[in-house]
Amino acid sequence: MAETNLILMGPPGAGKGTQAEFIVERVGIPQISTGDMLREAVASGSDVGQRASEIMKRGDLVPDEVVIEIVRDRLRRDDCRPGFILDGFPRTREQAVALDALLGELGREPVRVVVLEVPEDELMRRILSRGEGRADDNEATVRKRLGVYRDSTAPVIDHYGQAVVRIDGLGSVEQIRDRVAAALGS
Ligand code: ADP
Repeated sequence: MAETNLILMGPPGAGKGTQAEFIVERVGIPQISTGDMLREAVASGSDVGQRASEIMKRGDLVPDEVVIEIVRDRLRRDDCRPGFILDGFPRTREQAVALDALLGELGREPVRVVVLEVPEDELMRRILSRGEGRADDNEATVRKRLGVYRDSTAPVIDHYGQAVVRIDGLGSVEQIRDRVAAALGS
């Protein structure tokens, strides 16, 4: 059976986590959220968590080698065989290059990249009203994260050329779910 290997990209607040959950239900492949895994590491007080905590509070990127190692361990697990949804990775060119190498080593089929596009004023509004109590959801840190996305992550989209589908991320959660499903043919 063909693999469903997906990367969900888009700025903070674009709805990657929400849409990833729909794909998990529909396709039955796991969501791999580096943000969630890092927050778990912070909560557990592990070495990685201790290194990442202050960086995340500032809205900066955790060092490439740290996240690459986390993703490497996760993608090697058996539940990723039919496919996976990477949410929040890769965020830099170095991460994209490392992912190419890793998928090659694992003999995986090519990835498809879904980019959720949402204007910045809407992103700020969504994040400040979502009330998840995240340490990085204050206005100054959100501005920083949006800048990091623009400078470091958006350029990575080009790395994937024809594999990219851009989706309008404005609308109801269900409308966007249907657009994503249509784009993936699922
Ligand atoms: P959002 O997309 O809303 O910014 P995430 O949960 O994806 O939230 O990420 C939260 C924070 O975790 C980021 O601001 C960054 O500090 C860290 N992080 C997550 N994924 C990565 C990654 N691939 N590379 C570096 N840092 C990451």
